[in-house]
Amino acid sequence: MIKPILLSTPHMGDRELKFVQEAFETNWIAPVGPHVDAFEQEFCQVVGAGYAAAVSSGTAALHLALRLVGVESGDEVFCSTLTFIATANPIIYQGAKPVFIDSDRTSWNMNPELLQEALEYCDRIGKLPKAVVLVHLYGQSADIEPILKACNQYDIPLIEDAAEALGATYKGHSPGTFGRIGIYSFNGNKIITTSGGGMLVSEDTQLVTKARFLATQARDPSPHYQHSEVGYNYRLSNVLAGIGRGQLHVLHERVAARRRNFEIYASALENLPGIEFMPEANYGRATRWLTCLTIDPKAFGADREQVRIALSKQQIESRPVWKPLHLQPVFAECECFGGVVAEDLFAHGLCLPSGSNLTHKDLERVVDGITAIHYNN
Ligand SMILES: *Cc1c(COP(=O)(O)O)cnc(C)c1O
Repeated sequence: MIKPILLSTPHMGDRELKFVQEAFETNWIAPVGPHVDAFEQEFCQVVGAGYAAAVSSGTAALHLALRLVGVESGDEVFCSTLTFIATANPIIYQGAKPVFIDSDRTSWNMNPELLQEALEYCDRIGKLPKAVVLVHLYGQSADIEPILKACNQYDIPLIEDAAEALGATYKGHSPGTFGRIGIYSFNGNKIITTSGGGMLVSEDTQLVTKARFLATQARDPSPHYQHSEVGYNYRLSNVLAGIGRGQLHVLHERVAARRRNFEIYASALENLPGIEFMPEANYGRATRWLTCLTIDPKAFGADREQVRIALSKQQIESRPVWKPLHLQPVFAECECFGGVVAEDLFAHGLCLPSGSNLTHKDLERVVDGITAIHYNN
């Protein structure tokens, strides 16, 4: 049996278990406790955020973010189209409608000029969105400054979905810390994981306090159970926060390992005809959470799907780049500004195994697999 090589798997350091043990020994087996507080503080230090609330998932953090900036039923919310569906689902939870914005080719993230045009157009017809949700894809920051400028011009809050971009930089700072609210994910496939979990950050202490309040069933201060608003059960477990504290210690190593994966893939494959790697934009440093490339079938001799299937037969898991949300049946009724760039990246884009725990031998197997497909076609 050959060993399967998976896309992105959890990679524990050597402190996580000690923190979990501490939670057991002190009986803080609850969605509150010292690890939760410490994880929030330590996370703020790592990303340079003012305040943070640890929650049960990145999706929960996004839902809270939309609620906190006042997104309500009937509102429209701008959203990157090239992303995982979790970016947009919370817009629907709020009864609002996503309007999608296409990517640019230099970063694969939201095109700032297109956003500016879309806002100008919506302003002219008197239908501005209530918020903009900006995704930082595959470990690379979007071009935040012009996007923030466009949002500020129309006084629209920017929510940053940095679920895939923890450890990346934009002009020296962490994506997720520029907008009104930023969110991160610690799902099992992300660069660090708590098995499941998320973080909401903001410079506004009141906003983060309100996030914690909403995440704990919106319980008013009172000896009995008193509620004046609808809340959620979204807090992170103290046990899982312990895992998160351990993982934060190795974040830099995880980034280095994923960038090393990319370097090995790129040096071995970038000269093959028809192969192009996701570019690294010059304004920051990507983590290469996933190494992604595009395949031009004419030049390469096989298309994205043929490559994916051939690798899969060798027990190597690869995945197509996210299917744009404006092409998803569930969002069939939603508008999209542009769309051809994201469509093209989906048609030709493939994500390679990218875990920080891959060995040189694993990477070699992937490289050899792809090289063989080219030479056999
Ligand atoms: C993983 C992910 C999320 C959701 O995070 P969960 O913790 O899985 O809820 C949101 N947005 C993007 C872009 C993601 O990749």
